[in-house]
Amino acid sequence: MLPDVARAWEHLQRTAQELFARYGYEPIYTPLFEHTEVFTRGIGEATDIVSKEMYTFEDKGGRSITLRPEGTASVVRSALEHSLTANGAQAKLYYAGPMFRYERPQKGRMRQFWQIGIEFLGAPEPTADAEVITVLVRFFEALGLPRESMRLLLNTMGDEHCRPVYRDEIAAFIRAHADGLCEECQRRAETNPLRAFDCKNPGCREIMAEAPILRDRLCDDCAAHYAAVKSHLDALGINYIEDPSLVRGLDYYTRTVFEIQVDAGLGSQNAIGGGGRYDRLMQEYGGPATPGLGFALGFERTLLALEAAGIEIPALPRADVYVARVDDTVTDAAFALAQALRDAGIATELDHQGRSLKSQFKQADRLGARFVAVVGPDELAAGAFTLRNMGTKEETRVALSDAPAAVTAALG
Ligand code: AMP
Repeated sequence: MLPDVARAWEHLQRTAQELFARYGYEPIYTPLFEHTEVFTRGIGEATDIVSKEMYTFEDKGGRSITLRPEGTASVVRSALEHSLTANGAQAKLYYAGPMFRYERPQKGRMRQFWQIGIEFLGAPEPTADAEVITVLVRFFEALGLPRESMRLLLNTMGDEHCRPVYRDEIAAFIRAHADGLCEECQRRAETNPLRAFDCKNPGCREIMAEAPILRDRLCDDCAAHYAAVKSHLDALGINYIEDPSLVRGLDYYTRTVFEIQVDAGLGSQNAIGGGGRYDRLMQEYGGPATPGLGFALGFERTLLALEAAGIEIPALPRADVYVARVDDTVTDAAFALAQALRDAGIATELDHQGRSLKSQFKQADRLGARFVAVVGPDELAAGAFTLRNMGTKEETRVALSDAPAAVTAALG
């Protein structure tokens, strides 16, 4: 990431930190790699991620290691390891960093990509679902993406009571319609039938549109939870589209799943963020039953969406003040002045190339400096320098001893 992109990444992270803090989320950093088992157990052997996309290798100690393909498995693993949710405690955590998946690269899909995500552990209530979804919506809004350009899709995956029955029903449906379905979908009948809803093949989509939907097969508890999530979202004025074909690709999801899609700028990789509830994940790791949910959003796709919407990442000024030297005799004083301004928190630049005064002014312009502090031998002898406002061209004489206060006041 060169500075232009890295600056955007930092802007996204700052926006996330500020927003997430308002909802009580704290940062967590997990390793870039884990024992492979953390992902195979949590995400599921039959998922695309585990079966095709992981960067897995053996380390020198003969252990199977995998570069993390997503953040949730590691966060839940470490919450269990460090008892963050012991005795019914809740943990609200967020992370940001690179993830690795061996996918076919295309626009908006790369093998190392960056995600920001939150995880809310120990929260069974449907209000938690509505809150997490709202944070995701608000994040994109905070970046300036218009709400109308985003589509929030919502679905429920049921739980261990209603999903297995439905899974079998879909497997039977796939077998009954095998003729019209692609080979991959036919295979899915045996491995991960619900993923057939996710197939991009138009023929498969047409057939799967006729399949029974889980929403009609939910157990009472899941139906009540789903209804409550929707009503909490309605109360907050968060619009969503119910999409029974939204089956997110990880095994650990239970009940609520959601995704935000944006059309402009993204082509087929139009999901900028998504997540869901994973009430059984901690048990998969041998821990106590601990409900949880979260989302992850992709940095690269968010950036594409922002670009397409014409939203510029605010540029940090490279320098508020440029200290210009009239000649070499004032170098030490100019350097000391720049340092005093920097120590006072003012972004300050000065020349390190022995440029002429004229080209120092040009450089100040290029950097977007609002003021140039001109240090010359005569004024310096009187303990002062000239502060030039680059907008109004107004010049004032400032005592060196007053510099930080005077410049701070001038910057307003
Ligand atoms: P997932 O973990 O698959 O639910 O993805 C969450 C978000 O991460 C997606 O909405 C994308 O924004 C982003 N993402 C997932 N996979 C990739 C990838 N290969 N390249 C770029 N972004 C990705």
